[in-house]
Amino acid sequence: MTPVEEIKSRLSVVDVISTYLKLIRAGSNFKAVCPFHSEKTPSFFISPARDVWHCFGCQKGGDQFQFVMEIEGVEFREALRILAQRAGVELRHENPEVRNEHDRLLGLMELAVRFYEASLKRFPAVEAYIKRRGLVSETIEKFRIGYAPPESAGWRVFTEHVLKKGYTLTELEKSGLAIRKQPESSTETTHYSLLTTHYYDRFRNRVMFPVADHTGRVVGFGGRIFSAEGGPASGGDASIQAPAKYINSPQTALYDKSRILYGFEKAKVAMRKENTCIVVEGYMDAVMAHQAGTENVVAVSGTALTHPQLTMLRRLCDRLATSFDMDEAGESATRRSIDLALEIGFDVKAITLPSGKDPADLVCEDPVKWREAAAGATDVISYFFDKAHKRFDARTLEGKRGITQSVFPLIARLSRQVEKAHWVGRVASRLGIREEAVWDDLKKQQLPVSQSGAGRQNSPMARPQEEQRTRAHVLEERILGLLYAYRLPLSAELSENLFTSDAHRLLYAAYASDTKSFIASLADERLRLIANRLVFEVEMVVPPDGARAEYVSCIGELEREHVKHDLERITEDIRKAEEVGNEQLVSMLADEFRNLSQKLNKVLYP
Ligand SMILES: [Zn+2]
Repeated sequence: MTPVEEIKSRLSVVDVISTYLKLIRAGSNFKAVCPFHSEKTPSFFISPARDVWHCFGCQKGGDQFQFVMEIEGVEFREALRILAQRAGVELRHENPEVRNEHDRLLGLMELAVRFYEASLKRFPAVEAYIKRRGLVSETIEKFRIGYAPPESAGWRVFTEHVLKKGYTLTELEKSGLAIRKQPESSTETTHYSLLTTHYYDRFRNRVMFPVADHTGRVVGFGGRIFSAEGGPASGGDASIQAPAKYINSPQTALYDKSRILYGFEKAKVAMRKENTCIVVEGYMDAVMAHQAGTENVVAVSGTALTHPQLTMLRRLCDRLATSFDMDEAGESATRRSIDLALEIGFDVKAITLPSGKDPADLVCEDPVKWREAAAGATDVISYFFDKAHKRFDARTLEGKRGITQSVFPLIARLSRQVEKAHWVGRVASRLGIREEAVWDDLKKQQLPVSQSGAGRQNSPMARPQEEQRTRAHVLEERILGLLYAYRLPLSAELSENLFTSDAHRLLYAAYASDTKSFIASLADERLRLIANRLVFEVEMVVPPDGARAEYVSCIGELEREHVKHDLERITEDIRKAEEVGNEQLVSMLADEFRNLSQKLNKVLYP
């Protein structure tokens, strides 16, 4: 058995989901209020017999692993780790030495958090300062904010503390908390790594913000320079380079910066509940926003949002609001973040703050002002569109060009055609140009391939595409659902070609090749998702004793749909042939038409 199979054999979908949701019996299945979209009546179903779940509201579904990935906002690897632990399954591929080192580094980080927390208590001036900046004691405790002692206390206070606790210099260096001095000559190299005196603390005289992973384990730190005056803590001599306002832990074995967002583990629940995540730029902004009661806030520090970070957020919500400094949005990290968020299917909003103010300032002034700004976030395309209108004169050619250049890259990234059409209409009417021309220009927008290369279809949160729900499509779904739910025999009237979508053809072919095969044995995850939904639907509306009759009637109706469709096509072909006066073709098509009509009569009145 693979670890996945072993976990599934020990923990059913019901076991896993019931620890998160209240389940209600619904015949042989269970239902619940969906945790992934907002609803009052349950449309989230679990089948104990098939060990799967599906939500008819948001179309998410799958097995134990998909549920944990969705609800915890994690990737498969992490879901595997969580469930393995819960099921008591040891993951064999894990190298115990690596595991051990990993655990020791986590222990070291925890030790650091406690050290900095205790240190804050020993320097009341620092605590007084951060309270002046608006933080209350509960928030300081909740976010475990601390202080790294000043250089006057020594450059190795933390390093020495940790060595006494049994950690090694190598571990300290790997944690990113200490820095090894470069040796001055190569002969010294061998001794250097062994001497405590050649290591020093990375963080000195800094207010420390522990950065946690999605489960709350601290993996790194952000440190803000402390100065009682609030300004940069330079010694007054301008020739000496002032220390950076912020320094952060480097990338380490624990801290993968492209996958960690500050505050994520504290914001998860609120992000899902509000269906919105708010992304701010600084740690202090995030902490203050939480204190003001907006708990769906995370922070990035100075860099653009990465694809993995956005994917994590997208699993939890549909809307992303940003308080980034829009004035610098031109070529900056802000604009890259917005572009990527739109590509990934986020509904992106811009939070407008009074000029020169960041969220922390605003909360400090009055939490209500911040909450109002967050609630009043405007659509990001409207924001740039209006701004471009103020900057350019829409009556001149140059002005039109300026306006389109600022909004086209955004519109082109929208994943829904309806939204694109909406914006094309607005741009056309405000600039007084034809919609076709706008569409043409829009098509010329070259979209860079997003950094991970994962397109929208491959991303884990991609919703099933809005398929055209024609009558034939609905009938195909019902037939497939009946086959998979009630293991019905194949009918001579059915064939792969009868199905109009690729997914349906594949599902039919899989069933036809082995009528004993089950959904779980389908290799393609997307097909499993569709099949599960279809079976749940059938289970709800067709009782087992009515299955056969429903099956026969659906097949008959599907055949008629196809004949009708063919007749429409031939009628159109005849019209075209008549237009160009091709009498031979007209008579050929007319014969075909008669044959088909007879066939239709036969299926209608057998
Ligand atoms: Zn749902």
